Amino acid sequence: MKNTVFFLSLLFVLVSCKRDTKTTSKNTHSKSQKAEFSIVIHGGAGMMKKDNFSPEKQKAYKEKLEEAIRVGYDILNDGGTSLDAVQKTINILEDSPLFNAGKGAVFTNEGTNEHDASIMDGKTLNAGASAGTKTVKNPINLARAIMNKSPHVMLAREGAETFAKEQGLDIVRPAYFYTEKSMKALERVKASENKKTTSLYDETLKASKFGTVGCAALDKHGNLAAGTSTGGMTNKRWGRIGDSPLIGAGTYANNNTCAVSSTGWGEYFIRGMVAYDISALMAYKNLSLKEAAKEVIQNKLPSLDNGQGNGGIIAVDSYGNVAMEFNTSGMFRATMNDKGELYVGIFKN
Ligand code: ASP
Repeated sequence: MKNTVFFLSLLFVLVSCKRDTKTTSKNTHSKSQKAEFSIVIHGGAGMMKKDNFSPEKQKAYKEKLEEAIRVGYDILNDGGTSLDAVQKTINILEDSPLFNAGKGAVFTNEGTNEHDASIMDGKTLNAGASAGTKTVKNPINLARAIMNKSPHVMLAREGAETFAKEQGLDIVRPAYFYTEKSMKALERVKASENKKTTSLYDETLKASKFGTVGCAALDKHGNLAAGTSTGGMTNKRWGRIGDSPLIGAGTYANNNTCAVSSTGWGEYFIRGMVAYDISALMAYKNLSLKEAAKEVIQNKLPSLDNGQGNGGIIAVDSYGNVAMEFNTSGMFRATMNDKGELYVGIFKN
Protein backbone atom coordinates (compact mmCIF):
# COMPACT_ATOMS: atom_id res chain seq x y z
CA MET A 1 0.00 0.00 0.00
CA LYS A 2 2.77 2.41 1.09
CA ASN A 3 4.65 1.60 -2.11
CA THR A 4 1.59 2.28 -4.23
CA VAL A 5 1.08 5.70 -2.60
CA PHE A 6 4.78 6.49 -3.11
CA PHE A 7 4.61 5.40 -6.74
CA LEU A 8 1.47 7.46 -7.43
CA SER A 9 2.99 10.54 -5.79
CA LEU A 10 6.12 10.15 -7.90
CA LEU A 11 4.03 9.83 -11.02
CA PHE A 12 2.07 12.98 -10.10
CA VAL A 13 5.28 14.96 -9.53
CA LEU A 14 6.70 13.79 -12.87
CA VAL A 15 3.53 14.70 -14.77
CA SER A 16 3.36 18.15 -13.10
CA CYS A 17 7.02 18.83 -13.96
CA LYS A 18 6.42 17.86 -17.55
CA ARG A 19 3.45 20.23 -17.80
CA ASP A 20 5.49 23.06 -16.24
CA THR A 21 8.35 22.48 -18.63
CA LYS A 22 5.97 22.71 -21.56
CA THR A 23 4.46 25.96 -20.29
CA THR A 24 7.83 27.46 -19.53
CA SER A 25 9.39 26.49 -22.79
CA LYS A 26 6.60 28.13 -24.77
CA ASN A 27 6.86 31.35 -22.79
CA THR A 28 10.64 31.32 -22.62
CA HIS A 29 10.76 31.08 -26.37
CA SER A 30 8.57 34.17 -26.65
CA LYS A 31 10.43 36.00 -23.88
CA SER A 32 13.74 35.51 -25.63
CA GLN A 33 12.23 37.36 -28.59
CA LYS A 34 10.44 40.02 -26.55
CA ALA A 35 10.12 43.20 -28.54
CA GLU A 36 10.65 46.58 -26.90
CA PHE A 37 7.36 47.73 -28.38
CA SER A 38 5.02 46.81 -31.21
CA ILE A 39 1.97 48.17 -33.04
CA VAL A 40 -0.64 46.80 -35.45
CA ILE A 41 -3.71 48.36 -37.07
CA HIS A 42 -6.67 47.44 -39.26
CA GLY A 43 -8.93 49.49 -41.49
CA GLY A 44 -11.64 46.86 -41.83
CA ALA A 45 -12.02 43.47 -43.49
CA GLY A 46 -14.34 42.32 -46.23
CA MET A 47 -14.94 40.60 -49.53
CA MET A 48 -12.48 42.66 -51.53
CA LYS A 49 -11.67 41.75 -55.09
CA LYS A 50 -8.28 42.86 -56.34
CA ASP A 51 -9.87 43.68 -59.71
CA ASN A 52 -12.21 46.21 -58.06
CA PHE A 53 -9.29 48.07 -56.53
CA SER A 54 -7.41 50.28 -58.97
CA PRO A 55 -3.69 50.71 -58.23
CA GLU A 56 -4.48 54.34 -57.27
CA LYS A 57 -7.10 53.22 -54.79
CA GLN A 58 -4.77 50.64 -53.26
CA LYS A 59 -2.07 53.29 -53.00
CA ALA A 60 -4.42 55.72 -51.25
CA TYR A 61 -5.41 53.11 -48.64
CA LYS A 62 -1.84 51.98 -48.10
CA GLU A 63 -0.56 55.53 -47.70
CA LYS A 64 -3.20 56.36 -45.12
CA LEU A 65 -2.51 53.15 -43.18
CA GLU A 66 1.19 53.98 -43.20
CA GLU A 67 0.59 57.58 -42.11
CA ALA A 68 -1.57 56.34 -39.23
CA ILE A 69 0.75 53.63 -37.97
CA ARG A 70 3.76 55.93 -38.08
CA VAL A 71 1.98 58.25 -35.65
CA GLY A 72 1.60 55.40 -33.17
CA TYR A 73 5.10 54.13 -33.86
CA ASP A 74 6.64 57.53 -33.05
CA ILE A 75 4.73 57.74 -29.77
CA LEU A 76 5.90 54.26 -28.75
CA ASN A 77 9.46 54.86 -29.92
CA ASP A 78 9.62 58.03 -27.80
CA GLY A 79 8.52 56.04 -24.74
CA GLY A 80 4.86 57.09 -24.85
CA THR A 81 2.01 54.89 -23.69
CA SER A 82 0.21 52.25 -25.73
CA LEU A 83 -3.07 54.04 -24.93
CA ASP A 84 -1.83 57.27 -26.52
CA ALA A 85 -0.48 55.35 -29.51
CA VAL A 86 -3.81 53.58 -30.02
CA GLN A 87 -5.88 56.76 -29.70
CA LYS A 88 -3.73 58.99 -31.92
CA THR A 89 -3.33 56.32 -34.60
CA ILE A 90 -7.08 55.78 -34.72
CA ASN A 91 -7.62 59.57 -34.97
CA ILE A 92 -5.81 59.60 -38.33
CA LEU A 93 -8.05 56.86 -39.68
CA GLU A 94 -11.19 58.49 -38.23
CA ASP A 95 -10.34 61.75 -40.01
CA SER A 96 -9.94 59.99 -43.37
CA PRO A 97 -13.01 59.51 -45.59
CA LEU A 98 -11.56 56.16 -46.75
CA PHE A 99 -12.60 54.22 -43.66
CA ASN A 100 -15.89 53.44 -41.97
CA ALA A 101 -15.12 55.45 -38.84
CA GLY A 102 -15.38 59.13 -38.04
CA LYS A 103 -15.49 61.10 -41.32
CA GLY A 104 -16.13 58.11 -43.62
CA ALA A 105 -18.79 56.37 -41.49
CA VAL A 106 -21.52 54.38 -43.22
CA PHE A 107 -25.18 55.46 -43.20
CA THR A 108 -28.00 54.03 -41.17
CA ASN A 109 -31.34 53.16 -42.76
CA GLU A 110 -32.55 56.67 -41.82
CA GLY A 111 -29.58 58.29 -43.59
CA THR A 112 -27.74 59.27 -40.41
CA ASN A 113 -24.24 58.36 -39.19
CA GLU A 114 -24.05 56.71 -35.78
CA HIS A 115 -20.64 56.00 -34.33
CA ASP A 116 -19.43 53.34 -31.89
CA ALA A 117 -15.99 53.16 -30.27
CA SER A 118 -14.10 51.55 -27.41
CA ILE A 119 -10.66 51.49 -25.81
CA MET A 120 -9.09 49.27 -23.17
CA ASP A 121 -6.02 49.51 -20.95
CA GLY A 122 -4.31 46.14 -20.55
CA LYS A 123 -2.55 47.18 -17.35
CA THR A 124 -5.59 48.10 -15.26
CA LEU A 125 -8.35 46.41 -17.31
CA ASN A 126 -10.00 49.80 -17.31
CA ALA A 127 -12.12 50.50 -20.38
CA GLY A 128 -14.29 53.13 -22.04
CA ALA A 129 -16.90 52.87 -24.78
CA SER A 130 -19.43 55.03 -26.59
CA ALA A 131 -22.34 53.96 -28.78
CA GLY A 132 -24.64 55.65 -31.27
CA THR A 133 -23.16 59.17 -31.20
CA LYS A 134 -23.90 61.49 -34.14
CA THR A 135 -21.87 64.64 -33.50
CA VAL A 136 -18.58 63.60 -31.85
CA LYS A 137 -15.80 64.09 -34.40
CA ASN A 138 -13.44 61.46 -32.98
CA PRO A 139 -15.39 58.79 -31.12
CA ILE A 140 -12.21 57.08 -29.84
CA ASN A 141 -11.45 60.30 -27.89
CA LEU A 142 -14.87 60.03 -26.30
CA ALA A 143 -14.24 56.39 -25.38
CA ARG A 144 -10.94 57.41 -23.75
CA ALA A 145 -12.61 60.27 -21.87
CA ILE A 146 -15.32 57.92 -20.62
CA MET A 147 -12.60 55.57 -19.34
CA ASN A 148 -10.58 58.33 -17.65
CA LYS A 149 -13.11 60.92 -16.59
CA SER A 150 -16.36 59.12 -15.82
CA PRO A 151 -17.29 56.43 -13.31
CA HIS A 152 -18.80 54.40 -16.17
CA VAL A 153 -17.51 52.11 -18.91
CA MET A 154 -20.11 52.75 -21.59
CA LEU A 155 -22.25 55.76 -22.53
CA ALA A 156 -24.72 55.97 -25.40
CA ARG A 157 -26.44 58.46 -27.72
CA GLU A 158 -27.50 61.90 -26.34
CA GLY A 159 -26.05 61.23 -22.91
CA ALA A 160 -22.69 60.36 -24.42
CA GLU A 161 -22.83 63.52 -26.54
CA THR A 162 -23.59 65.69 -23.50
CA PHE A 163 -20.59 64.14 -21.74
CA ALA A 164 -18.41 64.74 -24.82
CA LYS A 165 -19.39 68.45 -24.80
CA GLU A 166 -18.68 68.71 -21.09
CA GLN A 167 -15.24 67.24 -21.70
CA GLY A 168 -14.53 69.80 -24.41
CA LEU A 169 -14.19 67.24 -27.20
CA ASP A 170 -14.58 68.32 -30.84
CA ILE A 171 -18.26 68.42 -31.79
CA VAL A 172 -19.32 68.69 -35.44
CA ARG A 173 -22.57 68.98 -37.35
CA PRO A 174 -23.86 65.60 -38.57
CA ALA A 175 -23.25 66.77 -42.17
CA TYR A 176 -19.49 66.60 -41.50
CA PHE A 177 -19.73 62.80 -41.76
CA TYR A 178 -21.36 62.78 -45.20
CA THR A 179 -19.41 61.02 -47.94
CA GLU A 180 -20.69 60.13 -51.36
CA LYS A 181 -19.28 56.61 -51.22
CA SER A 182 -21.21 55.83 -48.01
CA MET A 183 -24.42 57.31 -49.41
CA LYS A 184 -24.04 55.25 -52.59
CA ALA A 185 -23.51 52.13 -50.49
CA LEU A 186 -26.76 52.83 -48.64
CA GLU A 187 -28.62 53.36 -51.92
CA ARG A 188 -27.27 50.06 -53.29
CA VAL A 189 -28.35 48.13 -50.21
CA LYS A 190 -31.79 49.72 -50.22
CA ALA A 191 -32.26 49.00 -53.94
CA SER A 192 -31.42 45.33 -53.49
CA GLU A 193 -33.62 45.19 -50.40
CA ASN A 194 -36.56 46.42 -52.47
CA LYS A 195 -35.89 43.92 -55.24
CA LYS A 196 -35.37 41.20 -52.64
CA THR A 197 -32.82 39.58 -54.92
CA THR A 198 -30.35 38.82 -52.18
CA SER A 199 -30.58 38.86 -48.45
CA LEU A 200 -30.20 42.23 -46.79
CA TYR A 201 -27.04 41.18 -45.08
CA ASP A 202 -25.45 39.77 -48.25
CA GLU A 203 -25.75 43.20 -49.79
CA THR A 204 -24.81 45.02 -46.61
CA LEU A 205 -21.72 42.90 -46.47
CA LYS A 206 -20.64 43.71 -49.99
CA ALA A 207 -21.42 47.38 -49.59
CA SER A 208 -19.89 48.15 -46.25
CA LYS A 209 -16.68 46.17 -46.57
CA PHE A 210 -16.40 46.47 -42.81
CA GLY A 211 -14.17 49.58 -42.96
CA THR A 212 -14.00 49.82 -39.19
CA VAL A 213 -10.64 50.88 -37.80
CA GLY A 214 -8.66 49.51 -34.88
CA CYS A 215 -5.26 49.49 -33.25
CA ALA A 216 -3.41 47.37 -30.71
CA ALA A 217 -0.05 48.24 -29.18
CA LEU A 218 2.60 47.20 -26.68
CA ASP A 219 4.67 50.04 -25.18
CA LYS A 220 8.17 50.17 -23.71
CA HIS A 221 6.68 49.96 -20.21
CA GLY A 222 5.24 46.53 -21.03
CA ASN A 223 1.64 47.76 -21.21
CA LEU A 224 -0.87 46.65 -23.82
CA ALA A 225 -3.85 48.63 -25.14
CA ALA A 226 -6.44 48.23 -27.89
CA GLY A 227 -9.10 50.42 -29.45
CA THR A 228 -11.76 50.27 -32.15
CA SER A 229 -13.89 52.91 -33.91
CA THR A 230 -16.68 52.43 -36.44
CA GLY A 231 -19.80 53.71 -38.14
CA GLY A 232 -21.23 50.17 -37.85
CA MET A 233 -22.95 48.49 -40.78
CA THR A 234 -24.65 50.17 -43.75
CA ASN A 235 -28.45 50.32 -43.43
CA LYS A 236 -28.43 49.46 -39.72
CA ARG A 237 -31.66 50.40 -37.98
CA TRP A 238 -33.59 50.31 -34.75
CA GLY A 239 -30.60 51.73 -32.87
CA ARG A 240 -28.49 48.72 -33.76
CA ILE A 241 -25.15 48.56 -31.93
CA GLY A 242 -22.40 46.25 -33.18
CA ASP A 243 -19.45 44.61 -31.50
CA SER A 244 -17.02 47.55 -31.80
CA PRO A 245 -18.01 49.34 -28.57
CA LEU A 246 -18.42 46.09 -26.65
CA ILE A 247 -15.49 45.22 -24.44
CA GLY A 248 -14.71 41.55 -24.97
CA ALA A 249 -16.26 41.40 -28.45
CA GLY A 250 -14.77 44.30 -30.46
CA THR A 251 -11.94 45.30 -28.15
CA TYR A 252 -10.00 43.66 -25.34
CA ALA A 253 -6.62 44.18 -23.67
CA ASN A 254 -4.93 42.40 -20.80
CA ASN A 255 -1.21 42.66 -20.02
CA ASN A 256 -1.15 38.95 -19.15
CA THR A 257 -2.24 37.89 -22.63
CA CYS A 258 -2.89 40.26 -25.53
CA ALA A 259 -4.63 43.33 -26.95
CA VAL A 260 -7.21 42.77 -29.71
CA SER A 261 -9.36 44.86 -32.06
CA SER A 262 -12.02 43.18 -34.21
CA THR A 263 -13.68 44.00 -37.50
CA GLY A 264 -16.43 42.14 -39.27
CA TRP A 265 -20.07 41.26 -39.06
CA GLY A 266 -20.67 42.53 -35.55
CA GLU A 267 -23.54 40.26 -34.57
CA TYR A 268 -21.26 37.22 -34.91
CA PHE A 269 -18.40 38.90 -33.10
CA ILE A 270 -20.75 39.61 -30.20
CA ARG A 271 -22.05 36.05 -30.10
CA GLY A 272 -18.50 34.70 -30.33
CA MET A 273 -17.12 37.18 -27.73
CA VAL A 274 -14.20 37.23 -30.15
CA ALA A 275 -11.62 39.55 -28.59
CA TYR A 276 -11.95 38.07 -25.11
CA ASP A 277 -12.06 34.52 -26.46
CA ILE A 278 -8.62 34.96 -28.01
CA SER A 279 -7.27 36.21 -24.68
CA ALA A 280 -9.02 33.37 -22.82
CA LEU A 281 -7.54 30.70 -25.10
CA MET A 282 -4.10 32.11 -24.32
CA ALA A 283 -4.75 32.31 -20.58
CA TYR A 284 -6.50 29.02 -20.01
CA LYS A 285 -5.19 26.82 -22.80
CA ASN A 286 -1.73 28.31 -23.09
CA LEU A 287 -2.13 28.83 -26.83
CA SER A 288 0.16 31.34 -28.53
CA LEU A 289 -1.45 34.52 -29.88
CA LYS A 290 -1.28 33.20 -33.44
CA GLU A 291 -2.85 29.86 -32.49
CA ALA A 292 -5.63 31.52 -30.49
CA ALA A 293 -6.43 34.05 -33.23
CA LYS A 294 -6.51 31.33 -35.88
CA GLU A 295 -8.76 29.09 -33.80
CA VAL A 296 -11.30 31.86 -33.20
CA ILE A 297 -11.32 33.47 -36.66
CA GLN A 298 -10.90 30.37 -38.86
CA ASN A 299 -12.79 27.75 -36.81
CA LYS A 300 -15.07 29.12 -34.12
CA LEU A 301 -16.56 32.14 -35.96
CA PRO A 302 -17.32 30.27 -39.22
CA SER A 303 -19.01 27.54 -37.23
CA LEU A 304 -21.87 29.96 -36.48
CA ASP A 305 -24.77 29.89 -38.96
CA ASN A 306 -22.85 28.06 -41.71
CA GLY A 307 -19.92 30.39 -42.06
CA GLN A 308 -21.62 33.80 -41.89
CA GLY A 309 -19.17 35.09 -39.27
CA ASN A 310 -17.02 37.14 -41.61
CA GLY A 311 -14.20 39.36 -40.50
CA GLY A 312 -10.88 39.46 -38.75
CA ILE A 313 -8.78 40.80 -35.91
CA ILE A 314 -5.46 42.45 -35.31
CA ALA A 315 -3.68 41.75 -32.03
CA VAL A 316 -0.41 42.02 -30.17
CA ASP A 317 0.73 39.94 -27.20
CA SER A 318 2.82 40.89 -24.19
CA TYR A 319 6.01 39.86 -26.04
CA GLY A 320 5.23 42.06 -29.02
CA ASN A 321 4.15 39.20 -31.32
CA VAL A 322 1.51 40.34 -33.76
CA ALA A 323 -1.49 38.56 -35.33
CA MET A 324 -3.50 39.76 -38.34
CA GLU A 325 -6.04 37.00 -38.87
CA PHE A 326 -9.07 37.23 -41.17
CA ASN A 327 -11.45 34.86 -42.94
CA THR A 328 -12.47 37.32 -45.68
CA SER A 329 -10.61 37.92 -48.93
CA GLY A 330 -9.03 41.05 -47.55
CA MET A 331 -8.32 43.19 -44.53
CA PHE A 332 -6.68 46.63 -44.57
CA ARG A 333 -3.81 46.18 -42.17
CA ALA A 334 -0.37 47.37 -41.16
CA THR A 335 2.19 46.62 -38.50
CA MET A 336 5.52 48.06 -37.36
CA ASN A 337 8.08 46.51 -35.05
CA ASP A 338 10.59 48.14 -32.73
CA LYS A 339 13.18 48.15 -35.52
CA GLY A 340 10.92 50.37 -37.61
CA GLU A 341 10.14 47.63 -40.14
CA LEU A 342 6.78 48.28 -41.79
CA TYR A 343 4.30 45.86 -43.34
CA VAL A 344 1.14 47.09 -45.10
CA GLY A 345 -1.39 44.71 -46.68
CA ILE A 346 -4.86 44.62 -48.16
CA PHE A 347 -5.54 41.23 -49.74
CA LYS A 348 -4.85 37.68 -48.63
CA ASN A 349 -1.31 36.88 -49.68
N1 ASP B 1 -17.92 45.24 -36.62
C1 ASP B 1 -18.57 46.42 -37.08
C2 ASP B 1 -20.02 46.34 -36.72
O1 ASP B 1 -20.61 45.29 -36.84
C3 ASP B 1 -18.47 46.61 -38.55
C4 ASP B 1 -17.08 46.57 -39.08
O2 ASP B 1 -16.21 45.93 -38.52
O3 ASP B 1 -16.83 47.23 -40.11
O4 ASP B 1 -20.59 47.34 -36.38
